[in-house]
Amino acid sequence: MGVIIDGKAIGEKIRKEIKADTERLIERGCRPGLAVVLVGDDQASRTYVRNKQKSSIEAGMKSELIELPVDVSQQALLNTVDRLNADPTIHGILVQLPLPPHIDESAVIQAISPKKDVDGFHPENVGKMIIGQDSFLSCTPAGILELLKQTGVDIAGKHAVILGRSNIVGKPMGQLLLQEDATVTYCHSKTRDLKSFTRQADILIAAIGRAEFIDADHIKEGAVVIDVGMNRDENGKRCGDVDFEGVKEKAGAITPVPGGVGPMTVTMLLKNTLKSAQRTCSNYISTNG
Ligand code: NAP
Repeated sequence: MGVIIDGKAIGEKIRKEIKADTERLIERGCRPGLAVVLVGDDQASRTYVRNKQKSSIEAGMKSELIELPVDVSQQALLNTVDRLNADPTIHGILVQLPLPPHIDESAVIQAISPKKDVDGFHPENVGKMIIGQDSFLSCTPAGILELLKQTGVDIAGKHAVILGRSNIVGKPMGQLLLQEDATVTYCHSKTRDLKSFTRQADILIAAIGRAEFIDADHIKEGAVVIDVGMNRDENGKRCGDVDFEGVKEKAGAITPVPGGVGPMTVTMLLKNTLKSAQRTCSNYISTNG
């Protein structure tokens, strides 16, 4: 049986370090602050937001939740983002996606100051990430990279196959692995003969949103399998994109759902918020003594 990659334990370890760094910053008079904007009352979004808030408070950060009604106007939402951009006690702004259909999601993402874009979705941060400049990295791919590194997975020269090409998971994931010298293949819903690619993968990242779609027949013996999917099976139980029970015997290492990628996403959000506060506060401290 392959190694089960414990994202919960790895995430907790990193969060302890974030908490210690946060305390040091607070001693210097600067408390990292994260603002989360929630539009509407989608239950899944509410759960994610609650989790992010809880984690930021546990790390010692200031946490602000702004709840807006589902029929909020685009202008009112943009005004909220503007206010948070100007608020010196807020270092990270996150607008929970998806937004209602009448709101232009990309306009909202672009309204967030790139300096406070702790989700790493702003085109300025995406562009910097692609050309290898310091930026806020998209939290889920950054968390996966951290999981691979902490598990001791050797990435250079490996064939990484990414299933899914979304802007928030698949695309940035491939870029980060490319920067680590992997050979990267992207697959998506129009890919023909998916198994011919997945069976070549030394590292397989499944981010397609289809319950237990990837089975043992898709996997090369000994592959590292990272399951990003967050789905419900026919009994309403949480599951990933990978048939965990079937694949774990064949994989060299595998992440479970829950307890794999999910905790790392939140951890990277805290890491980005701390980084933003460290940047702003060191400017502030050096200017004001
Ligand atoms: P998304 O925007 O819906 O993208 C899904 C991608 O999968 C698309 O690129 C799509 O291809 C591709 N795809 C769909 N069916 C496929 C198939 N049968 N074969 C190959 N590719 C297929 O989803 P996302 O936002 O990237 O999220 C993916 C999953 O990860 C979801 O379950 C989501 O809930 C989960 N997620 C988890 C975390 C976490 O922290 N654990 C964070 C983010 C997302 P096309 O481009 O051709 O349509």
